[in-house]
Amino acid sequence: MKKQLLIIGGGFAGFWSALSAIRQSRELQKEDELEVTLVNMDEYLTIRPRLYEVSLEGLRVELKKYFKPLNIKFIIGKAEIINPEQNLVTVATNSGALSLSYDYLILSSGSVLKAINIPGIENTFNVDTFNGAQRLEDHLSQLASKNFEDDGATTFVIAGSGLTGLEVVTVIKEKALKILGEHGQDPIDFKVVLIEKAEKVGNYYSTEAQDYVIKTLESKDVTIVTGVSLAGVTSKGATLSDGTFIPSQTIISTVGLVASSLCNFFKGEKDKLGRLHVNKYLQLEAYDNVIAAGDVANIPTDDKGNSSLMACQFSMFLGKWAGHNAVNSLFSQPLKPYNYTDYVTCVDLGQEDGMLTTGWERALAFSGIEGKNIKMEVTTKLIYPADDVDTALTDSYPEVPNVSQNAV
Ligand SMILES: Cc1cc2nc3c(=O)[nH]c(=O)nc-3n(C[C@H](O)[C@H](O)[C@H](O)COP(=O)(O)OP(=O)(O)OC[C@H]3O[C@@H](n4cnc5c(N)ncnc54)[C@H](O)[C@@H]3O)c2cc1C
Repeated sequence: MKKQLLIIGGGFAGFWSALSAIRQSRELQKEDELEVTLVNMDEYLTIRPRLYEVSLEGLRVELKKYFKPLNIKFIIGKAEIINPEQNLVTVATNSGALSLSYDYLILSSGSVLKAINIPGIENTFNVDTFNGAQRLEDHLSQLASKNFEDDGATTFVIAGSGLTGLEVVTVIKEKALKILGEHGQDPIDFKVVLIEKAEKVGNYYSTEAQDYVIKTLESKDVTIVTGVSLAGVTSKGATLSDGTFIPSQTIISTVGLVASSLCNFFKGEKDKLGRLHVNKYLQLEAYDNVIAAGDVANIPTDDKGNSSLMACQFSMFLGKWAGHNAVNSLFSQPLKPYNYTDYVTCVDLGQEDGMLTTGWERALAFSGIEGKNIKMEVTTKLIYPADDVDTALTDSYPEVPNVSQNAV
């Protein structure tokens, strides 16, 4: 009977877990004694960091292209119940519920946009999932078909000035203009409003980087409203916490991510984003056969109190470690402690503009066209798996990344 490694989630962490597990089982000459199964809600590795972009083309990588030749069993379905005491997962699929048992589990079900409890939240748009981004694009297309003539149609309101919020505010006009052009209409002067509940946007950056962001938003004519939050949304506009009403048919929420609710099936402390704390091997302390990787995991990255963030540069590498350690654990081989020493952020700030910051203090390193080129290099190349399956397999070995060196 083969040992069963079950992976929930086929995003960056799950994808790399699966490849790393196969690679490591080959290395141990145990491939014939292991079955790797991955459950994902759809057929794709979705390149979430690009979902804000002008075009949605090329933002999904077909998983079966990699899984089929590597004999990774792929189930499209939604894991609904995890019973870690009995090593069982219930998965809803189009052809009914499946009960999957495992010897080892990797939880890599990622994150979702934080829900905000306000009236009319269903009227907001998002770029959190491919379907969400597609819905926004369809909506803009519908507005374009009427030349954005209805009340509030030319105003876009974005709530949240995190990285995604900054990217949406600086790209949304370009996206709307492209769609308008496809409808054969002349350009329109759109209005973009950024709502931030803190007193200043981008306060997670160093002062220099934050000043650069604010200057850029001002130069792109973004109206910045701080110290307020969304209080209610209708199809006609947004009401803010200070009572102001902004007529708009397009209100986009980018208020941050929380971990997948599947984390709640496990005992143990969770952080404020709902993530599971893992040890240096990515294991959950309360279980001897569960690893968490990617946006569901909180792992210390140094001895200064910093820990992993919900970001690809962590998820990809955590996945590579997860597959490796799960297989080594199953075959009683030494585990590899996670090691990560470097941290950068890249943000797209619209046409010919972007910014790279380095370190946990997020110091400004590159901006303008240089910053943009680095951002594009990272998101259109570095975070994609190699096209060739064998190369991707080799790339799945867990190694200390030097992200800033890669990025520049
Ligand atoms: C708009 C946006 C911009 C971003 N920009 C950046 C950026 O610039 N740089 C950066 O580093 N990071 C960025 N991120 C964050 C980055 O995308 C995430 O950190 C990364 O996707 C996490 O990878 P993951 O594999 O943990 O989870 P995900 O990529 O979320 O993958 C999880 C997978 O699990 C599946 N799943 C979830 N629940 C279940 C279930 N119950 N059953 C079966 N399958 C399930 C999902 O469908 C998904 O395929 C951005 C995210 C967004 C949304």
